[in-house]
Amino acid sequence: MRELGLQVRSDAVGNLFGRLEGDDPTAVMTGSHIDTVPNGGPLDGALGILGALSAVETLKTQLGRPRRTLEVLVCCEEEGAAYPANYWGARAITGTLDPAEAASVKDADGRPIGDAMRAVGLDPAAIPSARRQDVATFVELHIEQGRLLEDAGLEVGVVGAITGQYRAQVVVEGRPDHAGTTPMDLRSDAYLGAAEMALRVAEIAGQLGRPAVATVGRVRLEPGAVNVVPGRATFSLDARHPDLALFEELLTSLDVALHEIAARRDLAVAVTRHLYEEPTPMSAQVQDLLGETADALGLRWMPMTSGAGHDSEIMARAYPTAMIFVPSQGGRSHRPDEWTPIEQIVPGVRLLAHTLRRLAYDA
Ligand SMILES: [Zn+2]
Repeated sequence: MRELGLQVRSDAVGNLFGRLEGDDPTAVMTGSHIDTVPNGGPLDGALGILGALSAVETLKTQLGRPRRTLEVLVCCEEEGAAYPANYWGARAITGTLDPAEAASVKDADGRPIGDAMRAVGLDPAAIPSARRQDVATFVELHIEQGRLLEDAGLEVGVVGAITGQYRAQVVVEGRPDHAGTTPMDLRSDAYLGAAEMALRVAEIAGQLGRPAVATVGRVRLEPGAVNVVPGRATFSLDARHPDLALFEELLTSLDVALHEIAARRDLAVAVTRHLYEEPTPMSAQVQDLLGETADALGLRWMPMTSGAGHDSEIMARAYPTAMIFVPSQGGRSHRPDEWTPIEQIVPGVRLLAHTLRRLAYDA
């Protein structure tokens, strides 16, 4: 960023900014996160930063000083890989990160994130100073991390909403009995109830149709012995939809189904919610601008939703925000072979550059 002649600074949590000053100090910001997941790939997050640098470099070289300030964001700690601190950087920027979390958010060894901040010279007490109230627009370029664009043979996606997310733990209680002496008709098998529930969960999301998803990803049986009828089954439930009304419909259908199955099988069921995040719509104005710009460039694109969370989800609650997706090869992400060939990256960077031009030079 220094080589490009940007003014470089970092904030209280370690977000990094490269600023190209314009006549109007309110900033058109673009970028993504610098962190990744264990065993992750090279593009998740990093693409949005390098794409932003490339776009801003081109604009600066060809058009010079912008009317409105342009800023490249290198956002920290989006994934929450080391600490359960998702969107740490974006939350600091939008003023929704409580400094007390520096002490309460701890890694697997019990070490607070505040200690890690101090170890690299950051002061947790200064977190409120990271808040930005001068951001006019935020645009994030990111890989799709799914396979819809590739399947459709399209170049870019314009994100309309980031999915709502629900996570719960479901405990099904039956009765542990001897697997040899208890006749089938006298059993209260918690696992069979949980298994039927898992099938129904997938069916319900499938019937609601794309992009509804619901997943049972982890199951634990107790006592977990080969010769004992399972007395308790505990499973995780993850459900997502980007449309609030349909998200609520999905959650209600799941809840009704779990209780219906439990009652019919004479089992008890308890559902404990761990996460409920409403869907986050992106700015209609910025989406329209991205769509018009994509049309003007002759790009093959479609509107779509994001089934994964992104910094833009946090930014959208504070500033007009939208996202550009480029295809992910085979839909693979969060794994080392995550990839997008350069010729499929370029259309996304072009769309970003032309959109930034409209926002920062033409506006
Ligand atoms: Zn990401």
